[in-house]
Amino acid sequence: MSNSRQRDSDEHADPPGIQIEDDFEPFAQKDDVFRRSWWDETIRTAKAKLFYETYRNPLKTFRKADGFTQKDYALRNASWHVSDIFTEHNEKQDRREGFSDAFTLQRDVAEQQITFASPDEATAEIKNVARRFGADLVGITRYDPRWMYTSKFSDISQTERPNDIPDNLPYVIVTAQRMDYDLIQTVPSALSGAATGLGYSHDAQVVLSLTQFIRNLGYNAIGSMNDSGLAIPMAIQAGLGEYGRNGLLITKEFGPRIRLGKIFTDLPLAIDQPIHFGVSEFCTICRRCSDGCPVKAIADGEPSSERHNRSNIKGVKKWSVDGEKCFGFWARQNSDCAICIRVCPYNKDYSKWWHKLGIRLAGTWMRHIMLWLDIKLGYGQRVKPGKWWSPNM
Ligand code: SF4
Ligand code: SF4
Repeated sequence: MSNSRQRDSDEHADPPGIQIEDDFEPFAQKDDVFRRSWWDETIRTAKAKLFYETYRNPLKTFRKADGFTQKDYALRNASWHVSDIFTEHNEKQDRREGFSDAFTLQRDVAEQQITFASPDEATAEIKNVARRFGADLVGITRYDPRWMYTSKFSDISQTERPNDIPDNLPYVIVTAQRMDYDLIQTVPSALSGAATGLGYSHDAQVVLSLTQFIRNLGYNAIGSMNDSGLAIPMAIQAGLGEYGRNGLLITKEFGPRIRLGKIFTDLPLAIDQPIHFGVSEFCTICRRCSDGCPVKAIADGEPSSERHNRSNIKGVKKWSVDGEKCFGFWARQNSDCAICIRVCPYNKDYSKWWHKLGIRLAGTWMRHIMLWLDIKLGYGQRVKPGKWWSPNM
């Protein structure tokens, strides 16, 4: 069994970078700032309503600013289209799948069950298929009730409902899909929102296909995106990356430039272990995200269990983002923001050998030099959206 994989030994240990305190309380989805933007009048401002509307209906007046023209919004909304189809197909049944509810688009579990020689064999098969279906990263963790929503929240009927993921699915497969590097370079812009939309559309395809593969093998599986529970601690436990100051998962392969999906299953699998490659130590000396955030929503001090507002989970010591400030900025600029991804020194194209070397050195005593170099060499600067549209970029 590989180093990163062993079964059971520390089931439900705290994910690295996230310290559970005595007053911990699991999170209700109703308190997520995006769900609050549907029911909480302090968040659901006129700007917030317009923000959501622009994803469905063309703006009446487009800004002339580079990156916020009709063409930029056209591209952003087209990138979301596949994800939107899955989310909207059951709205009449008061379900927004992938956001408020897990996916229902799955055929029955096969009556005949395929037997694997061991959980290791099953895991190798699942990871191979996940990658062939387009997952960029895949890890396995145990179902951990601490990260499951205590209740779901419907944006449509604005009601709380029981979280219906059964607790007899002891394994969670966590997938990560990369977001487009060039689009993220153009943040803030409506154009860069296409990186998010493509991420979700890609996620929906990977999660649904892999879920159905497991069901066709004769095991129960339920596919999920932002619904059902908190994906970041599950991803850390599944060994996909470390927790960063910007409140995001930082991976070795794509830095914070990823979207997460999860599949709950009873197929017996071998559990991955959390990894450590120096992110916490690097974030301790780096402030690029907290300095770069236009509304100062990112903590620039030590990890703390202090809550900015009800959208932070209770009783967890970590770097926490002020979701109210963050979403307020999204609403005001009429598109999502990812400056804290763009400026992060881990946001690199790791197909280049020098960036692979750089991330290794950033995990050593050389981190101060690597941070200095990152700034000196101009990484994290915004690329003009007009340049992205150039065929030669
Ligand atoms: S997404 Fe933008 S507004 Fe939100 S925390 Fe990151 S930098 Fe700040
Ligand atoms: S920008 Fe710096 S402090 Fe923020 S998450 Fe990235 S490495 Fe950590």
